[in-house]
Amino acid sequence: MDIKSNADAGSRRGNSDWFTGIVWQEPIVEAPEPARVRAAMVTFEPGARTNWHTHPLGQTLHVVSGAGLAQVWGEPIRDLRAGDTVWIPPGEKHWHGAAPTVRLTHIAIHEALDGVHVDWLEKVSDEQYSGG
Ligand code: MN
Repeated sequence: MDIKSNADAGSRRGNSDWFTGIVWQEPIVEAPEPARVRAAMVTFEPGARTNWHTHPLGQTLHVVSGAGLAQVWGEPIRDLRAGDTVWIPPGEKHWHGAAPTVRLTHIAIHEALDGVHVDWLEKVSDEQYSGG
């Protein structure tokens, strides 16, 4: 058994290659193989969002607080509110992030396939983010 103390936990700044704006990630589940589930608490400052991306085995998002946006490639932008739970199927191209003026915190849960839990794609442009 391994108990990770909250005192050792830290927020990691989201890599700017994969995120636009300021994003903080706090790991919840980083169990070693053969476990493959991963979970993290992710906070997006207003306007911040992921790049477009896919998950090989899908992803569940549970919105803890704030308000956000999410979009599947080729579909309209959807609103996210505290308490919402989102399922993104394997291979579906999408992004998620904060609303323009409100922070978003969600828990992200996904499984790794051959060690990979996300395949990153291009940035979400300001025009795409604003629904253009
Ligand atoms: Mn995702």
